[in-house]
Amino acid sequence: MIIGRCAHLTEALPGRTKCQYRNKCDLGCPFGGYFSTQSSTLPAAVKTGNLTLRPMSIVTRILYDKDKKKATGVEVLDAETNQTYTYKSKIVFVNASTLNSTWLLLNSATDVWPDGLGSSSGTLGHYLMDHHLGSGAGGRVEGYEDKYVYGRRPNGVYIPRYRNLNNEKRDYLRGFGYQGGAARNRGTKAAEEIAAGIALKEALTEPGGWGVWMGGFGEVLPYYENTVTLDKNRKDKWGLNILAIDAELKDNEKKMRKEIVEDGKEMLEKAGVKDVYGFDNEGIMGQGIHEMGTARMGNDPKTSVLNKWNQIWDAPNVFVTDGSFMTSAGCVNPSLTYMAFTARAADYAVAELKKETCDSC
Ligand SMILES: Cc1cc2nc3c(=O)[nH]c(=O)nc-3n(C[C@H](O)[C@H](O)[C@H](O)COP(=O)(O)OP(=O)(O)OC[C@H]3O[C@@H](n4cnc5c(N)ncnc54)[C@H](O)[C@@H]3O)c2cc1C
Ligand code: SF4
Repeated sequence: MIIGRCAHLTEALPGRTKCQYRNKCDLGCPFGGYFSTQSSTLPAAVKTGNLTLRPMSIVTRILYDKDKKKATGVEVLDAETNQTYTYKSKIVFVNASTLNSTWLLLNSATDVWPDGLGSSSGTLGHYLMDHHLGSGAGGRVEGYEDKYVYGRRPNGVYIPRYRNLNNEKRDYLRGFGYQGGAARNRGTKAAEEIAAGIALKEALTEPGGWGVWMGGFGEVLPYYENTVTLDKNRKDKWGLNILAIDAELKDNEKKMRKEIVEDGKEMLEKAGVKDVYGFDNEGIMGQGIHEMGTARMGNDPKTSVLNKWNQIWDAPNVFVTDGSFMTSAGCVNPSLTYMAFTARAADYAVAELKKETCDSC
């Protein structure tokens, strides 16, 4: 078991204060103590003098020139005035998050690409992945009653993947990690026994015993039939067709979940945890909030939407660098990988733009 890693500052950076160790991170951090777009990348972009922020804007289409086989810009719908604007550009970066980026590509259908921009391989919208959550184990821990959670790390614990590694073979493919933590329950035994009144209120101010839990984050395999499409029958309030999602966990994930529960229980029991229980809410796609894969990257334009630089094969001046480019989900939190690929693609795009004859623009 290792403590979960997070990007909290122990020393101040320009424009960002070091972490105050108050464990209020779930509320968002006004100090910039942990990384966020608002505290880190947007201020850096503002400093260049080249950033125009246009909030309340829905990009509805990527505009495509069929002769040049490239995008020429985007169409934007102002969400408040309902006015439509066109922006011209040499290159387009699509980062609306997996589902919205895929929606945008699907909605950018033309005569040339009736199934959406980037659809020539037939894989656009397919292979939707997530991490499956909601199975694991927990229990009661005795002692440590002089300890509490304040002033400690604003993070839980992590158990990295150990299954199907080093020649081990389970009855399912790939694997899972655990994320977990411990907390004190509210109220002592006395509080449970007092029905009402001041005595109850006072008893409730006393923290109860410690509970510990660990939940699996399991890899979902890329299945062609886990799909998002444009729902031709349903529109949102701007008259735009909404996304239809048709995806499920399959046998591989279900087998993995059984082992997540059994392994978790075994570990906690061996660690001396009392009243150990397992849980499995059966899981659904989307519960992991790590959706990815619907505009996959690859070496072959016949089987992928993007090339190795995140460029759409069918329109190389369009870069898609959010989770939609992923080809397998792994079992770890994905956003750092998206950011690394975004930085890599941006670096490539800039180098290409600087060339006299730019293939991408
Ligand atoms: C509760 C929660 C907890 C999470 N915890 C973790 C974690 O611990 N670790 C981790 O790695 N990942 C975590 N994730 C996943 C992580 O948040 C996403 O992977 C990440 O935010 C994706 O970044 P993105 O820039 O692709 O998309 P987003 O951060 O979603 O940004 C996309 C932006 O595009 C805008 N947009 C969408 N459509 C359009 C359009 N048509 N026109 C114009 N703008 C548009 C959206 O408004 C949004 O601002 C979590 C997700 C949730 C919901
Ligand atoms: S504890 Fe969390 S919210 Fe508080 S300063 Fe540190 S990062 Fe920010």
